[in-house]
Amino acid sequence: MIYKQFHNKVMVRIDKGEELIDCLKTICKTLDIKLGSIIGIGATDKITVGLMNTKTKKYQSKEFTGDHEITSLVGNITTLNGEVYLHLHVTICNIEHKALGGHLTSAVISATFEGIIDIIDGQINREYNDEIGLNLLSLK
Ligand code: FE
Repeated sequence: MIYKQFHNKVMVRIDKGEELIDCLKTICKTLDIKLGSIIGIGATDKITVGLMNTKTKKYQSKEFTGDHEITSLVGNITTLNGEVYLHLHVTICNIEHKALGGHLTSAVISATFEGIIDIIDGQINREYNDEIGLNLLSLK
């Protein structure tokens, strides 16, 4: 993984074999980024995506292996209990160009990942909402 900062933006390259979320979290911690957005594209051959079951309040996750393009990754950077918290969603496509996606749990990069982090000068924490079953943005 390698990155370069330009004012409030960071260009990111994540390499073959690296785990995407680990790398993005490391960059945020190293550069002390606590609030912002992330977009990206790339390729993965091992990815787990989830879907929130609103009745059970649990994520139903599924792993996909083999060549997939990361056609779109979008998400935000906030904090939970002061620690960097990434909320990322992803759309990938398979060899038949069929798209699927969900809440990103993990992804191993198979070729490259190219991301842009947009830093917001601030901090927003999350707090657990029992009714929804998620760590919601605390914007009070
Ligand atoms: Fe989500």
